[in-house]
Amino acid sequence: MDCYAQLDLLPVDQAISLMRNAMSPVTATEKVCLANALDRILSEPIYSALNVPCHNNSAMDGYALRHHDINAEMTLKVIGQSLAGHPFKGTVSQGECVRIMTGAVIPEGADSVIMQENVSVNNNSIHINQTATLGENIRRAGEDIAIGSLVFEQGKRISPVDIGLLASLGIAEIGVFKRVKVAVLSTGDELKPLSEKLQAGDIYDSNRPTLIALLSRLAVDVIDIGCIADNPEKIAAAFTAAIAQADVVISSGGVSVGDADYTKDVLQTLGKINFWKVAMKPGKPFAFGVLNKTHSKSENTDAPKGWFFGLPGNPVSAVVTYHQLVVPALRYLAGEKFEVSPTFSVSTLTNLKKQRGRADYQRGHLSMHNGENQVVTTGNQSSGILSSVAQANCYILLEQERESVAAGEKVNVALFDRFLL
Ligand code: AMP
Ligand code: MG
Repeated sequence: MDCYAQLDLLPVDQAISLMRNAMSPVTATEKVCLANALDRILSEPIYSALNVPCHNNSAMDGYALRHHDINAEMTLKVIGQSLAGHPFKGTVSQGECVRIMTGAVIPEGADSVIMQENVSVNNNSIHINQTATLGENIRRAGEDIAIGSLVFEQGKRISPVDIGLLASLGIAEIGVFKRVKVAVLSTGDELKPLSEKLQAGDIYDSNRPTLIALLSRLAVDVIDIGCIADNPEKIAAAFTAAIAQADVVISSGGVSVGDADYTKDVLQTLGKINFWKVAMKPGKPFAFGVLNKTHSKSENTDAPKGWFFGLPGNPVSAVVTYHQLVVPALRYLAGEKFEVSPTFSVSTLTNLKKQRGRADYQRGHLSMHNGENQVVTTGNQSSGILSSVAQANCYILLEQERESVAAGEKVNVALFDRFLL
């Protein structure tokens, strides 16, 4: 009976493939300056117009010299100095060397740098106490990035370090895909904004602030549609207003089959449901579909439309379905090329309760003791216990067919990434 009931549930990887197959990434692009480039997605590959570093330069404070001289003449004449930003203009000839500081350009004629710790200085000459190999302590021009080489591929999300790398290439502006516009709303008669006092049966709307904060990590434009009552007309009006301004609508609540669950019916009227049940826990009811931007129910496939993600109302389910299903879909839509996050196998220190039929995304805390990774559950795994996520730093991934796990057994974990933490 239980097995039969699970048959219409879509495995998570299939749900992700279906969403990717249905959607096409944005194509519109714009230019942004480096100061505004963080988290944006490159719309074109970046090639280097420079060598980084530009010149052969010293990796140490010491003396630039000709390697050939080291064995022949152990005392060399110091003919000048090369400092970062102030290169030595002359040429190092036989029996000569140049005092050089880290980052300074290697002078003409020199091919190695000897550390200052390995020489004794006597007026204007040095005596070499320990020999150096050819090319020692020289950072070669282009050893980080060679002129003409591919630096970043199209579809790369720009990280803080990428900004530094682009700056080192003298690139002040990059081409990126336009931001995806995402409208967010909550549904539920019981939901109250933080400004109101709770009456009997009320709760605060926590999903919308969570989702808006999570979306800020993706660098999309967020439109806050607010809290909508459990009323099909009001929900339809909110969806219509939301999709008129946005590429994507994310709602939470009302997606199941309860008496006040209207999300799917409204989606069916204003567009199409692609699927709405996923074999994951938390989060079984999760609707993905299309919202038409115009009211006509025409079959014209070119008619403007947007994407709809209906998350379950329970706060943990909303967060986990957002992170596991909506984030990959939005990254794909935004033009990003990315890999699936790695998982690794560790021992659990605690027992983990699990039933067959759905893939569990339990919340855990991963730490290291005596050189060994170990994970513990963050406690009550009910889909209403948001602190089970707040205290966690990883998922404990229990496969669809797995049953309860005893302490000491191996489990797969995936660290929370920057789209969740
Ligand atoms: P639903 O999916 O609408 O059946 O809601 C499931 C549970 O999640 C109920 O206990 C709701 O009160 C709760 N819930 C729904 N929406 C929110 C929200 N925006 N913030 C906090 N809890 C919510
Ligand atoms: Mg509800």
